[in-house]
Amino acid sequence: MLTKPLTKNIGTENVAADIDRYRDNGGYRGWLKSLSMSPQDIVTTVQDAGLRGRGGAGFNTGLKWSFVPPVGQGPEIRYLVCNADEMEPGTFKDRLLMERDPHLLIEGMAIAAYAIGATSAYIFIRGEYHLAATRLQEAIAAATATGLLGKQIQGRDYSLTIHVHRSAGNYICGEETALLNALEGRRAIPRAKPPFPQVSGLWGRPTVVNNVETLCNLPDLIEMGAGWYRSLGRGQDSGTKLFGVSGMVKNPGTWELPMGTPIREIIEEHAGGMFDGLNLRGFLPGGGSTDFLGPEHLDLPMDYDVIGRAGSRMGTGTITVLDDQTCPVGMVLNLSRFFARESCGWCTPCRDGLPWVVQLLERIEFGHGSREDLRLLQEQAQRMGPGNTFCALAPGAAEPLQSALKMFAQDFIDHVTGGCCPYDRVQAIEHRTTG
Ligand code: SF4
Repeated sequence: MLTKPLTKNIGTENVAADIDRYRDNGGYRGWLKSLSMSPQDIVTTVQDAGLRGRGGAGFNTGLKWSFVPPVGQGPEIRYLVCNADEMEPGTFKDRLLMERDPHLLIEGMAIAAYAIGATSAYIFIRGEYHLAATRLQEAIAAATATGLLGKQIQGRDYSLTIHVHRSAGNYICGEETALLNALEGRRAIPRAKPPFPQVSGLWGRPTVVNNVETLCNLPDLIEMGAGWYRSLGRGQDSGTKLFGVSGMVKNPGTWELPMGTPIREIIEEHAGGMFDGLNLRGFLPGGGSTDFLGPEHLDLPMDYDVIGRAGSRMGTGTITVLDDQTCPVGMVLNLSRFFARESCGWCTPCRDGLPWVVQLLERIEFGHGSREDLRLLQEQAQRMGPGNTFCALAPGAAEPLQSALKMFAQDFIDHVTGGCCPYDRVQAIEHRTTG
């Protein structure tokens, strides 16, 4: 039985560039089956399957589609947008799918576009992903030439054009409404919601924005059915997921595993465990904008609600580990610098708050901090929390900061009382003793 629908073609030589080989492996069967179904049946199947958005929010994909007026009702023009602006620190899963199996994404997009009645679709791709963009354009051209895209597909009264749009480069474009602004040629700042994009999105039309991995789940889900898809998960959630690990592990990378795979298994078996001599102190379970969890959480299954109840988020499902010889203050400083640079500048707690967080962390990390700085840091993390800013960038940046302040409180105090980073001092002593 097929157990790895996302990566079944990866490793098959040349399948990325060759539509015939993709079809020999069963490619586009899900799309052809979709064309024999009604759009509403596809929405219902995806909703019943329990597919949750793989970009980070984890919202039920079929339910999200159901907010678009049914095909034949409401505005005739609708859009599908694939969010391929993968910039979350520590996350590198969508690139794998787009570079190594671009037809899988094109097929998933065709199914999603048909389900919501869109005849134009866009892939908004991170500007640095040159190889992925090229391969997607080749895949679109091949699918169009074989009648799987384009006008009156397979003789039916349905046409679809897919465009690749390369981002000018900004993390905020990963936020779906900022992405839509960027696609329209406007400044990439988030839009107020409501209205939600499903009602008024790209150029004011009903629009669905889905992540790359989410869309890549669709071909086999439609071909094999909702029951099969649900059976793939080991825990509460359905299907499989690309989980990844980065940090000081022996075998960093990304693997397709069932939803609900325990964190310990991902880190110790698939990523090979920590480097010899290093111990795990904590980890960000789903990218740079999630709260730290600790060793006591290692046996939790990677399911959205389980990780949420533990005090963090599944996010992108790509784990970043913190070892016991890396400074947590330095790690949070590194992340905060990224978020400060990527702030779109639209609202004050983020535009002015994040650079202030960076200044405070720099003072602490480089040995000039005070206990008052720690208090200010705590206060600032709360000011950037949910409900105080226009979008989730600042609250996301606050998550690793506030959880580090709790989990690694003694490290912050040691920096302040010792007047330097203890980890630098340990490394300097080790350097002197080993010559
Ligand atoms: Fe822009 Fe930051 Fe405000 Fe989001 S939170 S709108 S990124 S300034």
